Amino acid sequence: MVNKFIPYGRQAIDQADIEYVINVLQSDWLTQGPSVSKFEDAVAKYCGVRYAVAVSNGTAALHLAALAAGFGAEDEVITSPITFVASANCILYAGAQPVFADIDPDTYCIDPIQIESKLSEVTKGVIPVHFAGHPCDMGAISKIARENQLIVIEDAAHAIGASYTIDGKHYRVGSCAHSDMSIFSFHPVKHITTGEGGVVTTNCRDLYEKLLMLRSHGITRDPRLLKRNEGPWYYEMQTFGFNYRITDLQCALGISQLRKLDGFVQRRRDIVKQYNSNFSNDPRFIVPHENQNVFSSYHLYVLRFRSPLRLEIFDYLRQQGVGVNVHYIPVHFHPYYEKNFGDHRGEYPVAEAYYENVVTIPLFPGMTNSDVDYVISKVRTAADMFA
Ligand SMILES: *Cc1c(COP(=O)(O)O)cnc(C)c1O
Repeated sequence: MVNKFIPYGRQAIDQADIEYVINVLQSDWLTQGPSVSKFEDAVAKYCGVRYAVAVSNGTAALHLAALAAGFGAEDEVITSPITFVASANCILYAGAQPVFADIDPDTYCIDPIQIESKLSEVTKGVIPVHFAGHPCDMGAISKIARENQLIVIEDAAHAIGASYTIDGKHYRVGSCAHSDMSIFSFHPVKHITTGEGGVVTTNCRDLYEKLLMLRSHGITRDPRLLKRNEGPWYYEMQTFGFNYRITDLQCALGISQLRKLDGFVQRRRDIVKQYNSNFSNDPRFIVPHENQNVFSSYHLYVLRFRSPLRLEIFDYLRQQGVGVNVHYIPVHFHPYYEKNFGDHRGEYPVAEAYYENVVTIPLFPGMTNSDVDYVISKVRTAADMFA
């Protein structure tokens, strides 16, 4: 047994983060205070978007975005089969039907051509997932959305700090230049953390106001929005909402973390470069692909083997203290989806072949160069033994 265990991802917290949180603990506001809007403003400014609404986690962000989009019974919404289940579950929360469209074999992001093949009379929206930090083809997706009056919600849980260029113009993920809304997650394995937390961004005032209301029980106190006004105590529940608020403690951590985001992404990209230079000329491996017009923020490093030998390799690497994982089991393989939506095995050949031979290896900014070298040497040994 080795003592060392390098997880596939983890947070990077420093003294400045701790001091930000302590300051809020000593202030008057633990929740519903000034740190929430400060964090929202900072995220909006970073992304180059008009509005940001911070919520309790990324899944809540997806849920509220799906409701604000107006997804409901009879509607179909298209997403990727290779994602965390929350990307599809939010469609179910809204009472709509999830429909999957297969992935691109190089980027592992949803394939716009496959989206087109899944359009029906009742398709209402698309939730592209910027897989592992690589932005989807938003030019193509927004064109399909315009032509078919679809609402686009970017699941950018992997992709804060990523960007792309279309026709010489540069866009940050989260700017909503090619979508109606984007969501982020601040779970500790993501680029920056608030413990649990999430954000929805949008340029649309109407969606922004819906999101604010849905976040807090469907209640508003905004005098411009009230149906009646019975006095200074008065508030109205206008829609059926939730308590998906985030605390000031979490937002203070978020503000401090956001300042370090670009550095975190750079460190991730440096590690990816080291991995790629070691794995890319070995015929047993396929390394992650980055399109020319894309700057990936590399949430995950997915190493693909040419052959499906995962079990032995997985067991060996875990024994050696390398925290490998698999991102993701195709959503339609999960028993809940099979039971409620039928057996769709075989319908997404690219996604299903992908799932057969991928392993996520550790990638996070706090990895030392010796951690990186250790992972490289253990992966090579595993491949020598089993591939
Ligand atoms: C992490 C993640 C989410 C959910 O975020 P939480 O903050 O954990 O609720 C949604 N979609 C994707 C693709 C994710 O990776």
